[in-house]
Amino acid sequence: MKWSQRAAGVVVGSAVGDALGGPFEFGPQGAFSARFPAPGAGGEMCGGGGWDPGEATDDTQMAVLVAQSLLERGKLDLPDVFARFQRWAASEPKDIGLQTEDVLTNGMPWDLAAAIHFQVNRRAAGNGSLMRASTSAVHFAPAGQEATMDAARRIAALTHGDRAAWEGTAIFHELVRLAFEDTDPLAALPDVLALVHPDHRSRYATVLAPDWHPDRATEFNGAVWPCLGSAVWALRTTGGFEEAIRAAIDLGGDTDTVAAVTGGLAGACYGLDAIPTRWTRPLHVPLPGSGGRVLYLDDLLHLAHRLERGPSTGRGR
Ligand SMILES: [Mg+2]
Repeated sequence: MKWSQRAAGVVVGSAVGDALGGPFEFGPQGAFSARFPAPGAGGEMCGGGGWDPGEATDDTQMAVLVAQSLLERGKLDLPDVFARFQRWAASEPKDIGLQTEDVLTNGMPWDLAAAIHFQVNRRAAGNGSLMRASTSAVHFAPAGQEATMDAARRIAALTHGDRAAWEGTAIFHELVRLAFEDTDPLAALPDVLALVHPDHRSRYATVLAPDWHPDRATEFNGAVWPCLGSAVWALRTTGGFEEAIRAAIDLGGDTDTVAAVTGGLAGACYGLDAIPTRWTRPLHVPLPGSGGRVLYLDDLLHLAHRLERGPSTGRGR
């Protein structure tokens, strides 16, 4: 499969999962398939819970902000990414993670805000850095394993002081890169785990193990470990893009984010053409803080195409 098929699959797949999962956020298990029993029947991009049909939530909005910074700055400019996040957070997005909001509005400088939040709260391993990683994963894949995992950690650290969130985001970046290289990311998981910081390896080994099931999660799936574990589980136990997304949303809980992460991974594996057009057609991404700008499918495809060329220098700086 062509690299560009996979790149577009990651960006659009994640946005599609986000928009499909949004209306089911904090709902019970099985709610999606109870409402849409037959795969392929249509109508799934239903809206609800304050979301219009096809409207992407904060997961995709933040992923687009990262993309715009990477492309406009021509490098990984962390203060610029942080400033864009802050402008967005100040523009009353419909949804924003509690931890992300606190870090972006506590008045601290970009390189201290997340760390101070972590020092005070001690709980900072939410899935909020993993959820927005589709665009950076595409962009840094051509730079190689070390560079893409490094970039993931640094972007995650802007809002998440807990290294667990950095490592989860780095794993996602590397799984996407492996798919781009036509390597089966699931088969490569043991190798990827070896790249995880030793203090965090065993916890990821647990949720990424072939026999792990989301029912075994020890935290709500708004935490980074079960969120990534559930996305990998959804990919592993299904045979296509649509089926993976259905499985992810049916888990309930933080459905938009679990489906966004699943959609990114499934998009990398199956490519853009595997994503149903009835899901991509209504897709749109409002960008609070950007003068009322809304991105549609063509805009996301254009973004993915520019991102896939990679950083101009190896480490993007
Ligand atoms: Mg969301």
